[in-house]
Amino acid sequence: MLNKKVADLLNEQINKELYSAYLYLDMNNYFQQRGLNGFANWYMIQAQEERDHAMLFYQYMQNNDCKVTLDAIAKPDKVFKTDMDVLKAGLEHEEYVTASIHTIYDAAYKVKDFRTMQFLDWFVKEQGEEETNARDMITKMELFGNDPKSLYMLNQELAGRTYSAPSLVLD
Ligand code: MG
Repeated sequence: MLNKKVADLLNEQINKELYSAYLYLDMNNYFQQRGLNGFANWYMIQAQEERDHAMLFYQYMQNNDCKVTLDAIAKPDKVFKTDMDVLKAGLEHEEYVTASIHTIYDAAYKVKDFRTMQFLDWFVKEQGEEETNARDMITKMELFGNDPKSLYMLNQELAGRTYSAPSLVLD
């Protein structure tokens, strides 16, 4: 059995990942409305990845004989006035998720829960990549967002992103 605090934090993380999926769906929705289908595609794939993350935490808890409690998913509450608002909200959210993963890691470390630490290692790395991706989006928008032709090409580039299942597979 997992330590109670570690289990509670893992359970909360399921909800946070599902909220992330919800938030990215809302961003997809924003860009669909803008007519920027490539950006919309990029955020749809983000949403799919977040759902995968939620399922990994879900499965990890079940594999460790922990009862999962599913809670209500909050409504996405960010207001997007500009494209950059969306990109910045994405980075801010990923930084929040990174801190949340680190909090679970810290709790697991304190009770010498090496199994959970090993499970979380994948997420620590993943969060580094998520933050880099979010920063890259901001940089690209700063460079090209104000020129319609460049924005069109950036949109085309983002349209090429394809979904792939997470490299972490639980038995
Ligand atoms: Mg995630």
